[in-house]
Amino acid sequence: MEREDYLQWAERAARWGAEYLATLDERPVRAQTAPGEVAAMLPAAPPEEPVDMETIFADFERIVPGGMTHWQHPRFFAYFPANAAPASMIAESLTSVMAAQCMLWQTSPAATEIETRMVDWMRQALGMPEGFQGVIQDTGTTANLCAVLTMRERALGWRGNDSGVAGEKQLRVYASPETHSSIDKAVRVAGIGQQHLVKVPTDGSGALDPQALHAAIEADLAAGLLPAGVVLCVGGTSIGASDRPRETIEVAREHDLYVHVDAAWAGSAMICPELRALWDGVEGADSIAFNPHKWLGAQFDCTIQFLADPEPQVRTLGVRPDYLQTLGQSGITNYSEWTIPLGRRFRALKLWFLLRAHGLEDLRQRIRNHVAWAGEAAAAIAALDGFRLTTDCRLSLFTFQYAPDGEDANDATERLLRAVNDDGRIYLTQTVHEGRFVIRFQVGQFDCRREDVLLAVDVLRELAHAQDEQ
Ligand SMILES: *Cc1c(COP(=O)(O)O)cnc(C)c1O
Repeated sequence: MEREDYLQWAERAARWGAEYLATLDERPVRAQTAPGEVAAMLPAAPPEEPVDMETIFADFERIVPGGMTHWQHPRFFAYFPANAAPASMIAESLTSVMAAQCMLWQTSPAATEIETRMVDWMRQALGMPEGFQGVIQDTGTTANLCAVLTMRERALGWRGNDSGVAGEKQLRVYASPETHSSIDKAVRVAGIGQQHLVKVPTDGSGALDPQALHAAIEADLAAGLLPAGVVLCVGGTSIGASDRPRETIEVAREHDLYVHVDAAWAGSAMICPELRALWDGVEGADSIAFNPHKWLGAQFDCTIQFLADPEPQVRTLGVRPDYLQTLGQSGITNYSEWTIPLGRRFRALKLWFLLRAHGLEDLRQRIRNHVAWAGEAAAAIAALDGFRLTTDCRLSLFTFQYAPDGEDANDATERLLRAVNDDGRIYLTQTVHEGRFVIRFQVGQFDCRREDVLLAVDVLRELAHAQDEQ
């Protein structure tokens, strides 16, 4: 395919996309594909000769959509959403045409300057104070790793990057057991070690207990260890648990620890002022990450990491070899110095399109709807025979079990979940809460309607009933 053919195939792809979106709710939400089925449809060796686009496109249609789980399906209630509002998809296709590489200001000035502005728009949208700057990361995992590396270097007086951590006091990072597994990965990658991620006990609500944090830090200091930072969780992945930033940050500050807040999912909901009590005091943190690609509607991937002061992170991650110097410019931002990869995609464009095409009020309304409908679904499921809620609705996430008389609740719940996902009309996933196998129910797909949520309740009733008949 040559450049001259671009228009023809772009139009074809756009028509396919429009048709896909229009008929998405007729497809099963989760791929109904067996492992190896897709691989078996691909030749083992690459082609030596060109294949015509007609054949390539036909193979795409034949092989790919049926092998996908449809994250934009309005009845996707699994994990957390990974939304893609149509306006953000358009921005993404423009980005792909320019094949922008945004490592330095001068390699894509518009990308850098739009990124700076979009981070500031989002700061205002979330009600955060002036002074916070930030960067768009690929994923929450990367933002969390950048924050943990910064904690490490700050605690070591920036010696770790140079001479390694071997001769240093043992670093310690604190978090609740409800924090995401990417924090475990971050302490591993940072050379701190999994054992030194201290999982501080929580109170009855699942929030890290500030007194317990204080005690853990004091005990570590007495033992000659080096406390480096605290990772707070707002809207945890399993059941939506949240720490209390204000009180917890106070404890961290007493010990001069760096504080990072992971609000990957819940952060988007903070565009609604009435929901912000959830992260009261967050402005005291050093670093805050959330994923506009989850609940807000930005096409995956797009994570914003706010920084009260970018200097410690840039000092930790910035490297300036001769060949990356920008000659004759001052007062510019090179965002690759704020993160791990050198090459960076133009992620700000989709936020710009999204925020303008919808406006904040429309985005707030969607989130408010999701929260309200999740509450309705939770009440309706709790009222079904044999069902019980295992955690209350937090924002738009709750968990439940199916426990008919005379059967082990974990087994019955797992059987029901398999039946639901084989059925395909809705998609739900599980977690383990207090040793019990529970089903998570999350409302957050961008185009989800109330009737989609209510249909999910019907599907659960119907399939539980069918299970009882067997
Ligand atoms: C989803 C999630 C992450 C990971 O985000 P990615 O962008 O998928 O890396 C981290 N923390 C929390 C709380 C999450 O919900």
